[in-house]
Amino acid sequence: MTTRIALIAHDHKKDDIVTLAGEYVDTLRRCNIIATGTIGGRISDAHGLQVERMLSGPHGGDLQIGAQLAEGRVDMVIFLRDPMTPQQHEPDINALLRACDVHNIPCATNIRRRA
Ligand code: PGA
Repeated sequence: MTTRIALIAHDHKKDDIVTLAGEYVDTLRRCNIIATGTIGGRISDAHGLQVERMLSGPHGGDLQIGAQLAEGRVDMVIFLRDPMTPQQHEPDINALLRACDVHNIPCATNIRRRA
């Protein structure tokens, strides 16, 4: 079965997730990718990957991904959060992270950067 991966990133982390997607583009080509609206467009434009785009995060995209995850339709999440900036849709973000924990779906919220 094809791995279904959700990619999300807050504004200050968007460049990081586009770079990450480029580093793993061959792996991602073998996955089904779901993403919030803005980042889905950026990843698709930058790397030619097919991305199923949800609404933008602040407009409910995180919740759409959370709903699919709760139905068993998401295998893993990479969600690069910005811990330094308050997000107006914090409740949606918490709901998605909680859904990951409830359903034992791995979720990475940061990437290690070597100095
Ligand atoms: P976006 O949503 O990709 O549509 O910007 C992510 C977010 O900022 O929550």
